[in-house]
Amino acid sequence: MTANILFAATANRWAEYETPLSEALREAGVAFDLRTDFPPDEVDYIVYAPNSEVQDFKPYTRLKAVLNLWAGVEDVVFNPTLSVPLARMVDHGLTQGMVEWVTGHVLRHHLGMDAHILGQDGQWRTEVPPLAQDRRVTILGLGELGRACADSLARLGFPVSGWSRSAKSLPDVTTYHGDDGLAEALSRADILVLLLPDTPDTTDLVNADRLAQMPEGAVLINPGRGTLIDDTALIEALDSGRLGHATLDVFRTEPLLPVHPFWAHPKVTVTPHIASATRADSASRVIAENVRRGEAGEPLLHLVNRDLGY
Ligand code: NDP
Repeated sequence: MTANILFAATANRWAEYETPLSEALREAGVAFDLRTDFPPDEVDYIVYAPNSEVQDFKPYTRLKAVLNLWAGVEDVVFNPTLSVPLARMVDHGLTQGMVEWVTGHVLRHHLGMDAHILGQDGQWRTEVPPLAQDRRVTILGLGELGRACADSLARLGFPVSGWSRSAKSLPDVTTYHGDDGLAEALSRADILVLLLPDTPDTTDLVNADRLAQMPEGAVLINPGRGTLIDDTALIEALDSGRLGHATLDVFRTEPLLPVHPFWAHPKVTVTPHIASATRADSASRVIAENVRRGEAGEPLLHLVNRDLGY
């Protein structure tokens, strides 16, 4: 049987993925027809990206699975017309990119690099930063990305704490979970990294009360999702000096509007949702493997829990 695969994403993505995805499907030994349009009742799999034209899955009567190109699934996970399994992206390139971005931004703040990069003003500043062992980092979210970042930072010598919904045990990481563990994890966050998904339970998680539980002058780094933070509380905490800096990669509205106060705030660094990206070569192999599994009747990889929303 030929698997009919609808690529439901922008023309730019299609240009990026058509060749590597076709090659990966061939390598996986799948008989396939990959296209950007099909009559809905002939489609077996949808490769899905945010803002896809496909919003109503009901006409896709023989659909077997939706394979999300991104790690975050908030655009599709609660779609009431979706009744087949939803898999998300877990990709080596995506994980490695996030490790590099998070490690780089943690080191920027830890080493106080801005003082020298921005402050070439003739003053001989001799303040030496502490060692990593004296700077505590907390990561909220210990999934594929949070775990890899925790591991990288722990290897550099940072005392790393992590927080997740369920209990975890990770080498060289102090772990907390559930509502009770959050205050303790925040109290140890000289630098806080957010790698949680956007779900009803995580919306506005980092609010004024939670910011007040962090050490005075702490740094917040958010490559997770914009909805995790109460923006008004964040700006108040930066203005009052409670927080030292915020590096933000994700926002409630993207692109961030040119008039948004984050752009001009002296204690905010904005990056345009580039912390990490799905890489076409490695991501195509993940999609192809899931199609192979689907056709062989094997369980799909990286299935989303549609009750929890991630
Ligand atoms: P995972 O699903 O693998 O991990 C999510 C983690 O968050 C898990 O540890 C989970 O806990 C935890 N979590 C979820 N809900 C709660 C909650 N209510 N309370 C406490 N912990 C919770 O996701 P990934 O690591 O792959 O990705 C994380 C997020 O990173 C994505 O959802 C996406 O939003 C963002 N992202 C951003 C990118 C960028 O370029 N800026 C690129 C890629 C992803 P548990 O382990 O117990 O399930």
